[in-house]
Formats: sequence, structure tokens, C-alpha cells
Amino acid sequence: QSSFDAVPMAPTDPLFGLMAAYKADTHAKKVDLGVGAYRDDNAKPWVLPVVKKADAIMRDDPSLDHEYLPIAGLQSFTQAAARLILGRDSPAIADQRVSSVQTISGTGAVHLGAAFISKFYPRQQNQPVFLSNPTWANHQQIFSNVHLPTTTYPYYYPPTRGLDFDGFTEALRTAPEGSIVLLHACAHNPTGVDPTREQWVEIAKIMKANNLFPFFDCAYQGFASGDLDNDAWAVRHFVEQGFELCVAQSFSKNLGLYGERAGVFHFVSGSMERQKRIASQLAIIQRSEISNPPAYGARIADLAMNRPELFEEWKVNLRTMAGRIITCREQLVAKLRERGTPGDWSHIMKQIGMFSFTGLTEEQVKKLREEWHIYMTKNGRISMAGLNSHNIDYVATAIDKVVR
Ligand code: PMP
Repeated sequence: QSSFDAVPMAPTDPLFGLMAAYKADTHAKKVDLGVGAYRDDNAKPWVLPVVKKADAIMRDDPSLDHEYLPIAGLQSFTQAAARLILGRDSPAIADQRVSSVQTISGTGAVHLGAAFISKFYPRQQNQPVFLSNPTWANHQQIFSNVHLPTTTYPYYYPPTRGLDFDGFTEALRTAPEGSIVLLHACAHNPTGVDPTREQWVEIAKIMKANNLFPFFDCAYQGFASGDLDNDAWAVRHFVEQGFELCVAQSFSKNLGLYGERAGVFHFVSGSMERQKRIASQLAIIQRSEISNPPAYGARIADLAMNRPELFEEWKVNLRTMAGRIITCREQLVAKLRERGTPGDWSHIMKQIGMFSFTGLTEEQVKKLREEWHIYMTKNGRISMAGLNSHNIDYVATAIDKVVR
């Protein structure tokens, strides 16, 4: 007998369940296209050379200790992170209108923003936060954990395996004034479908007209196109248009620091004076939740951004990762065409970043897993980084067979 007898069993996280099933599979040709983590051409995790160098520098530094970081984290890191996403010459930075708080990676940054909004954003009762349909599986529960209801806006358009721009913009036009809209800054997860720059301009115009609040989730800067500035374009455009907005920034993918939990939450406000009040409240939330953030990943990212020679090396490493993924996209499409696989596969080339929404049905996904030992989420999303020169022919053959 316990007061907790009524606790129901929660379902296991589907992605982590998929990982376990892959691990347990003993087939020699098994392929993991589930997990969103970069792999090299030998399907191994890649410690970025820039991270190895930063780590060596840290180890040689006799002044480093294990003291607590400040509540808002390592300032040289969070400030460099603000310049990275907003641009070196951002007027918001020059005007001291940006509050930047180090978080438990991107997840913690989304959470801190959600907690702040829940506490301070004036909303009508039950006014929902708008999430793309579909979106990263964690968004909905992060917001609902802080008692913010969510709803969705149309995003993915199955017939083209591209963007439902009309549905998206219509939802923005008709959303209750002042609604919060979560946007993926680049490399949309799970679809790989991003708006074009022209479309972003239009999205910003409509959001401005309807006084909507943009909440950017930026988990793939530099990882998508290989170019840090290019992948930050949408966020910078919104800042230029004079929005107050926030950004959840992750260094998991672009520095390969998954387990180190390096991230930053930025709030860009309209005035320095307001910024100071917002920063003071973010610090209160942070203090009550984690006291202060972890140091190691932040120190690595700090060196990668602030040492000019390491920053140059990081950019090369980013091009290596993004380049390999883009090559895999080209090769997969070429191999499907070679096989005369039914369907138009050009969307795989048009999509960007870690993931591709293949358009494979749940039934086909099941067959790929049961008959070919190829693992992907049941919505047909594949992690492009799971492909490599050793398995891409096998995967193309398997897809060809299951769609016929
Ligand atoms: N947002 C999106 C859209 C993501 O894809 C991810 C990583 N899967 C995250 C946030 C957060 O990742 P992390 O907490 O490792 O930074």
C-alpha cells in the first residue's frame, strides 16, 4: 500500500525503444536510421577534431578548477553563442537587448523559455502555443509540463513531401493575436523541410501583422548547410524586422557534444532596460531548477568559438558533416533512380539536415525492419547520418523492394 499506487505506467519513448531493438538485433547487415546523431562513414560517432583540440587546451590549463559556474553560465560562451546565432554585428547585441542564459542543451533552453513564458507572458486562458505539424516529439511535453497547452499549424504537405506553405500561413493569419509560435530555425525535425528565404520573409510579415511571438528552436546551426551564417538567416531576419523573440540554441549536433549538454537560451527584447528585468527573472527560474549549468561542454564550445584558429577548424568540421550528409542524399536518390524504384525521390535532395521524411508508409517501415533489419521511426523519417558508403546500396535495394 502506497500513496503512489495510482501512478500509471508510461509508455517507453518510441525513439529509445527503437534504439534498443536495433542494439538487440544480431543481423550482420542491420542499419540504424533512427537516432538523430551524426555518424561517420564507418557508422561510428565522430569526435570533432576541433573538440579534441579544445579538450587538449583545457587539460593543459592549470587555472581550471571544478568550481560552480555563475547562475547564467559561462559568460564568454553565452556571449559568443549570441554572436553566432544573431550575427557579430547584430544591433540587438550592440544595444544590449539580449539576455543569454546557459542551459542543459537545447532541451533545457526550450524548457527555460517555456517556463519563462508560462510565468510571465500575458495570455488569454488556455491560449495554446503553436507547434508545427509534425514537430520534434519533445516539444509538446516540454510545454505541457509547464502548463502551456499546445496546438499545431500545418507544415508538412505529404503530396509534395514539402512545405504546406498555404496551410502554414493561413494558420498564422487566423491564430489568436499574440500567440506564441514555435519555429525551427533550420533543418526542421522530423521532416527536413525548411521554408525558403522568400517564404520566411512572408512568414515574418504575417506574424508581425498578427502580433505573434516567435520562439525559435535552433538545434542544427551549421549542421544543415555547412555554413553557420546561412543556417542563422531566418532568426536574423526576424530580429531585423524588430520582433521581440527567443531562441533555444543547442551545440549537440554542430559540435557533436550530445552528452555534454551545452546550450543557450536567448531572449531578444525591445529595450536594454526590459532586457535587464527579463534576465533577472530567467536567473530566478534557473536557480530553482539547476542552480547553475554544467561546465565542460560550455568550455569546449567557448574555445571553439572564441579562439580564431579553432573557429576556422570548426567551420571545416561542419562542412565535413554537412557535406557527407548531402552526398548521401544525392547517392540515395541516384541509387533509387538506377533501380527504377517507383515514385519521385527528389524530395530527399530538397530536404536538409539530419533527417529526411521519405514518404515510406508505416507498413513499408515495418517490412524494412522485419525483413531487412533497417530501423527507422514509423513515420518514415530516416536519419541521413545513418547512411554510409558501406550500407547505402543495401538500403536502396531494400527500399526498392518494399515499395514495389
Ligand atoms: N530541438 C530539436 C528540433 C531537436 O531536433 C533537438 C535534438 N534532437 C533538440 C531541440 C534538443 O537537443 P539537445 O537537448 O541535445 O540540445
